[in-house]
Amino acid sequence: MNPHIVIAGGGFAGTTLVRTLQRRLPREAALTLISEESYTTFNPLLPEAVGAALFPEQTVAPIRAMLAARTRFVMGRIKSVDARAKALTCETLAGERAFAYDELVLALGSRARLDLVPGMAEHALPLKTVGDALHIRNSVLRRAAAIELEPDPAERRRLGRFVVIGGGFSGVEVAGQLADCLASIRRYYPRIGAPGFDVLLLQDIDRLLPELPPRLGSAAARSLAARGVSIRLGARAVEVNENGVRLANGSFIDAGTLICTIGTRPNHLIERMKLPMERGRVVVADDMSVPGTPGLWALGDCALVPNAHDGSYAPPTAQFAVREAKTLARNLRARLQERPTRAFRYRSLGAMATIGHLKGVAQVLGVPLTGVAAWFLWRAYYLSQMPTLGRKVRIFVEWTWGMFFRADITHLRFTRSEDL
Ligand SMILES: Cc1cc2nc3c(=O)[nH]c(=O)nc-3n(C[C@H](O)[C@H](O)[C@H](O)COP(=O)(O)OP(=O)(O)OC[C@H]3O[C@@H](n4cnc5c(N)ncnc54)[C@H](O)[C@@H]3O)c2cc1C
Repeated sequence: MNPHIVIAGGGFAGTTLVRTLQRRLPREAALTLISEESYTTFNPLLPEAVGAALFPEQTVAPIRAMLAARTRFVMGRIKSVDARAKALTCETLAGERAFAYDELVLALGSRARLDLVPGMAEHALPLKTVGDALHIRNSVLRRAAAIELEPDPAERRRLGRFVVIGGGFSGVEVAGQLADCLASIRRYYPRIGAPGFDVLLLQDIDRLLPELPPRLGSAAARSLAARGVSIRLGARAVEVNENGVRLANGSFIDAGTLICTIGTRPNHLIERMKLPMERGRVVVADDMSVPGTPGLWALGDCALVPNAHDGSYAPPTAQFAVREAKTLARNLRARLQERPTRAFRYRSLGAMATIGHLKGVAQVLGVPLTGVAAWFLWRAYYLSQMPTLGRKVRIFVEWTWGMFFRADITHLRFTRSEDL
């Protein structure tokens, strides 16, 4: 019987794995990729979609366009896995379907955690999917339209205040993009008047971007402050309601829009599988196999992958997900050929964040960079990671367009006509 490899999840890890396997696996092996959406989301680009620097559809790439004829794609949500019988069930557009496998790779990512602060689930906007980015972008444009019509100055101030909770990569990027977007669209709303818009970034510890050296966190804070973003360090949100956010020191901040970029939790299916977990991720051996469950592997954000380079665990980033996928492709081939597998080993190239138009911070191979150089490097890296030439060209054209023109204020509604 020909071996059948199934990859569950079409994000950074799953699509890189399948693209590598298509080239490297012997022809007789069958490959299936199952994912609940028809596209991969380039999460690092989501803050640009929030700030209207990119259309949301440019932050995704269709999975089918990445696949060779030998790979089967199934659009569906995996509901259950029977690891003993090596079978899974999947909810598809054509109803429930069952699949048998020889090797199953879990690349299911994680989901937003909204129960960290009471009220956050009901009143704050998470940023985890392209739908979230579109929702935040539309909320921002709706707020601008509402302020123009609001006679009460206190309510105008509240509506115009955007609070971003979390000063890590996503929070800093969203705050920077929002500040640039609001400054750019202000002229289209001439009746907004004073005080206008206000972006506030809350961080519970004493510096921004704790993943980077303190110097770069301070550079990001200076750049954001220069564009009018208020930053509160050591400010822990303890309650969120429809009017704003309460901090641990008892103060209350009125705000019309709250965006939360903190916290993740395990994927639903991973939780249901009852695998050994640590830090909310599946425990795997150094070759990414799941100990004690033959034929099961895990990588990316959903797995706690040991890094043989320095004995640490791989962080949940796109950069690591892509590298893990390349090692796992080798290991799956080795397994089919009954050769020994290898430990995951990777020296990180560094980390980067954009903090608005022409501004960024980065640490690349130990070298700190700020401003345009970091911003340019960030864009070049993510453009190079985009699959298919067509997608690369579209993003490049849109980025170029954004260098010369203001943010787009089109607010699209995705509802069908009703005969009211
Ligand atoms: C706003 C934001 C900004 C970020 N910025 C950066 C950055 O600048 N740099 C960086 O390195 N990293 C960044 N990251 C992190 C990076 O996006 C993740 O580390 C990366 O996406 C992990 O890849 P993955 O394949 O493990 O998971 P994901 O990319 O999340 O993919 C998981 C896939 O599994 C699918 N799936 C889930 N459950 C099921 C199911 N039951 N059945 C079928 N399919 C399922 C999902 O639809 C998805 O396609 C950012 C993340 C966010 C949210």
